[in-house]
Amino acid sequence: MINMDVFRGFLEAIHHLPEMAQPDHLTDPERVKIAKKVMINKIDRGLALDLEACVSCGYCTEACHFYQSTHDPKYSPSRKLDLLRKVHARETSAFAPVKRLFTPDITIDDLKEWQELVYDSCTECGRCSMICPMGVNTARGVNVMREALFEAGLAPLELQAVAQEQAGRGTVFGVGSNELLAAVKQIEEQGTAIPVDLRQADVMLITSVIDILLYQDAFVGSAKILNHLGVKWSLRTAGFEGANFGLLSGSEDLQKLASKRLIDEALQIGAKIVLVPECGHAYPAMRWDARLDDGEPLPFKVMAVSEYVGQQIEKGNLKLTPGDPSHRVTYHDACKLARHGGVMTEPRSALKALGVDFVDTAPTAEQNWCCGGGAGAFLINRAEGLRHQAWQIKREQVEATGAETVAVSCGSCRLNFMAGAEKDKWPVKIESVVAMVAKQLDESLAKTL
Ligand code: SF4
Ligand code: SF4
Repeated sequence: MINMDVFRGFLEAIHHLPEMAQPDHLTDPERVKIAKKVMINKIDRGLALDLEACVSCGYCTEACHFYQSTHDPKYSPSRKLDLLRKVHARETSAFAPVKRLFTPDITIDDLKEWQELVYDSCTECGRCSMICPMGVNTARGVNVMREALFEAGLAPLELQAVAQEQAGRGTVFGVGSNELLAAVKQIEEQGTAIPVDLRQADVMLITSVIDILLYQDAFVGSAKILNHLGVKWSLRTAGFEGANFGLLSGSEDLQKLASKRLIDEALQIGAKIVLVPECGHAYPAMRWDARLDDGEPLPFKVMAVSEYVGQQIEKGNLKLTPGDPSHRVTYHDACKLARHGGVMTEPRSALKALGVDFVDTAPTAEQNWCCGGGAGAFLINRAEGLRHQAWQIKREQVEATGAETVAVSCGSCRLNFMAGAEKDKWPVKIESVVAMVAKQLDESLAKTL
């Protein structure tokens, strides 16, 4: 059962984030200079190709939930890259000296305008790229814009505040190792063993501030499943936070630092698998972007916990009690897991194994709609109305299945669903895939080490 007071307290805390951001002292010309420098440095051959390949056909607009729900042309995916396109034309394109003559330079007003376009109204979901005939990777360009704006001190204050906290104190929303240990103690008192700081373990479980504070069912569910499987696993107090506000805000340095904290712990205990919690962006941060200090690939496997659980079910390693065949359940694909990460069959295998009446949404899997709350958008206060509009598409999609429950495998999506449900008095239950599986573990068949 989710504690709605904690949920509302979390929403309230988000409202106060801007007050916590430490201001910088950059002048406007300095901000423009810094932002341009980042953009120029980041425009490699692939991005240049993306910027030049767009034929303005407009197909991508139909794929974007922010455009679809508002019909405001400023939210067209292609337009979100216009500023980057301008910098490319003037600075890095083949005919830059000529193009500079008739392409105006970017200004501080441009940068401020683009803040809304690349943070509030783009969840980097990648859906527009699925439909683009030229294969333009808008999400990547948007991420570069975020890096430019962050370095210029123009990221939304909410994201700046949390990024500053994670970079400085190493905590997120005030949750550090002491708070983790307090949560673990409480969970153990309720009967679930959580091994902490083992010297050697085959599996290292990462968690996140959201799961510690709010979605403990997902955290406890992961622990129960690992215990049931009898694997040797551990949490690490020096590296447990999966949320990466470097990736969300656009701070490349923080992204690397936050990943390094996890990598160092996994290396220290010789982990063969690092399990990322139900957190969409934590998955690509570790699975695709993280590297060793020397740039080499990670020597262990990174898996999303719902992917791992689904695989264990597919292999017959998890024994479940029968579910209710009249309970209709559908699944929301978190964009970073499904479209970006290919994790689509495993969470479905897990849900189908519960013996419920599983029904997919239409469209589904890699074509599924984004819920509108990912990539840090959920934390941006001024984006609340826009997010809620975009979520209506998802709401209608779920309602069309007739499901009583929508299962999710991302805490951010779950937050966005819950915020939408609270606002609209939506009766559909919003549950974690892992928590649902954990509820049906047949403990009489659990393995022990
Ligand atoms: S990545 Fe997603 S949110 Fe961003 S422009 Fe494309 S469809 Fe819209
Ligand atoms: S679908 Fe692709 S080519 Fe067409 S406008 Fe969008 S980004 Fe440009």
